[in-house]
Amino acid sequence: MPISVAVPKEQTSEERRVALVPEIAGRFAKLGVTVVIEKEVGKGAHFIDTAYKEAQVVENAEKLYQQADVVLKVQPPTEAEIEQMKEGTVVIGFMSPHLYPERVAKLRDKKITSLAVELVPRISRAQSMDALSSQAAVAGYKAVIRAADLASVFFPMLTTAAGTIRPAKVLVIGAGVAGLQAIATARRLGAMVEGYDVRSATKEQVESLGAKFVDIEIKAEGEGGYARELTAEEKQQQQAILAKHVAAANVVITTAAIPGRPSPKILPKPMVEGMAPGSVIIDLASEGGGNCELTKPGETVEHQGVIIHGPLDLPSQTPINASEMYSKNLFNLLSPMIKEGELQIDWEDEVIIGCTLTHAGEIKHAPTRELVEGAKP
Ligand code: NAD
Repeated sequence: MPISVAVPKEQTSEERRVALVPEIAGRFAKLGVTVVIEKEVGKGAHFIDTAYKEAQVVENAEKLYQQADVVLKVQPPTEAEIEQMKEGTVVIGFMSPHLYPERVAKLRDKKITSLAVELVPRISRAQSMDALSSQAAVAGYKAVIRAADLASVFFPMLTTAAGTIRPAKVLVIGAGVAGLQAIATARRLGAMVEGYDVRSATKEQVESLGAKFVDIEIKAEGEGGYARELTAEEKQQQQAILAKHVAAANVVITTAAIPGRPSPKILPKPMVEGMAPGSVIIDLASEGGGNCELTKPGETVEHQGVIIHGPLDLPSQTPINASEMYSKNLFNLLSPMIKEGELQIDWEDEVIIGCTLTHAGEIKHAPTRELVEGAKP
């Protein structure tokens, strides 16, 4: 029997992305599976139901979950959604297990197989499945567009009859996927850009995009290509040098994160107070508490004339491309498991092992198991 791949409407009104776009629905149909979508599933991203030519449209989530073998989601499934799933359903999407341990327990108890896209190992083979990267790239781009909108100055240099306008100075802190996209976008808008990261490998990447690298001579490479937390002494050294660059910038975009830890606080209040009124900080690390001491996640605040914007939903604000990229990530993750329309999961595959959160009544991801069930004696 061919499996059915089903896509419910996202539950939060702020979420405009959809886990399956029409083009990818067609590619799933070619693999012999039945594609089922809930009515108006792609409305927030402007994909109308009739564009999903190969899909069956159902009226509501209840009907969808009755026939779903695999469920594709953007946001973590809510407890009510999990309640509606059949035992043994496979659900794929962002799971944010550290935020929702009670949902993980429910997935376990209902014997749902949940694959968390944020846990897909970052190995070369899995690059095309890497939703963290695709969505971070969208966020990096949109952060600059927001900054340009909130800034009180032009980004490019302008030579006009009314005088010459100097280009804006943009400083990007954290040159990972989002940061590099922010640097590239700010450069395209004509700003003078500086980039900074604690991983030395980023120097070349920053410079290849035409930006200047702020060298603080701290090397904080951690495991798996990520940064480690800085020591107290290193933090002091970082702040002393960064303060000058922050003070000179019209726009600061921060993206610094350390996996599994709260965002490092890189911009304390005095550093913000050193910026000229009319400057802007876009804190892309706000989900983890923010890189700036004054960031209020999800809000825009002003301190002594400096605007501090802490967005939580940037990928969702470019919903067409963000959905296309995310949907392709899911296809690349799921399609190797589909053989002649049926689901055959290779439990030896390191990508599957890495991203399986719950399966057959167990929490497979060790840190989440510890969080939900406590450490085993
Ligand atoms: P991230 O979102 O975890 O962090 C963003 C950036 O912040 C990182 O570059 C990090 O070094 C930096 N940072 C952390 N603490 C900092 C501090 N105190 N000061 C300044 N900067 C700080 O990172 P990410 O964008 O997800 O990617 C990080 C790494 O993963 C990169 O090496 C990237 O190349 C690698 N990566 C690999 C793959 C793959 O192979 N499939 C895919 C994506 C990313």
